[in-house]
Amino acid sequence: MKAYRTILQVFDQHHSFALSTHVNPDGDALGSELALYSFLKDLGKQVKIFNTDAVPKNYTFLPFYDAILPAKAFQSDFPEILVVLDAGVLNRIGEDLSHTLIPTKAMVNIDHHNTAECFGDYNLVETDASSTSEIIYRLIQHHGTPIGKDRALCLYTGIMFDTGCFRYSNSTPNAHHVAADLIQEGIAVDEVYRAVYETLSVGTIRLLGEVFQTLGTTPDGKIGWLYVTQEMFRKTGTSHDNVDGFINHIRSIDTVEVAILVSEQKNGDSKASLRSKSFVDVGAIASVFGGGGHQRAAGCEIDKSCEEAIVQLVATIQQRMRDG
Ligand code: 5GP
Ligand code: MN
Repeated sequence: MKAYRTILQVFDQHHSFALSTHVNPDGDALGSELALYSFLKDLGKQVKIFNTDAVPKNYTFLPFYDAILPAKAFQSDFPEILVVLDAGVLNRIGEDLSHTLIPTKAMVNIDHHNTAECFGDYNLVETDASSTSEIIYRLIQHHGTPIGKDRALCLYTGIMFDTGCFRYSNSTPNAHHVAADLIQEGIAVDEVYRAVYETLSVGTIRLLGEVFQTLGTTPDGKIGWLYVTQEMFRKTGTSHDNVDGFINHIRSIDTVEVAILVSEQKNGDSKASLRSKSFVDVGAIASVFGGGGHQRAAGCEIDKSCEEAIVQLVATIQQRMRDG
């Protein structure tokens, strides 16, 4: 609880804040960021949010989302405090922002990744929290400020997203207790689910059809993969934002322990997402390639083509499985 007190003191003693989160922001990144934004605003602070990537369309139902500014909006109004959310290493907020968004007083890191480097001057890192949103919930509770419906909507979205709708192993008793409290604020859980997951475009489903053609597995079926190319995005009028959730189809194969989804970047390099079911620590695998994440969900960038990236990832995972 001391860490919570320290962070609240930092908030109390300063006036201007910038918030940021990781590239390709997801439900937890945005939910935690927007709830903290609203909390700090209610404390009478000056707060701005700078994100490298825009808010995906399916998250524009979140309150305050239009407060999020693009990286280029950041000029010279340096904040006293920079709070980096849901990112275990600073450059996850984007190469440019990580160099320009420099606070005059201190950096605060709030995160739950088990590969977190605690790069802040103050760190609130809880690797057993389901999500950064769960940590923000506790922080606001600790302060004694009511959560309220708007912040509840943001935080519930974050917990729902990071627990895979309460299916993954991070769906702890705490995650459920916090979710129950948030629901009690009057949010409609069915509407949150529909907004996040049931607003796909026809192009996204066509993209899924293309991507399914790339399905591959190792002979023992323990590792499965899919990849998506820029050509597929072009053909279906989609982008990287639309691949969210595709990887779950591979993980749902009975024999699969590790699922890989590799996405071709505009420059030809690869972005890999990794998921595991029960025993392989994919956070450790991603770290080998300079990425990170959690035991069951992680990611990294590899400066190779999709096919080459898959070969390297599969070899590394097989080695880990052999070593136990
Ligand atoms: P996703 O596959 O959904 O993009 O990410 C899964 C998890 O791994 C998330 O918690 C995310 O923060 C983390 N992750 C994904 N890509 C990277 C990366 O390139 N570097 C690091 N450090 N973490 C990543
Ligand atoms: Mn998260």
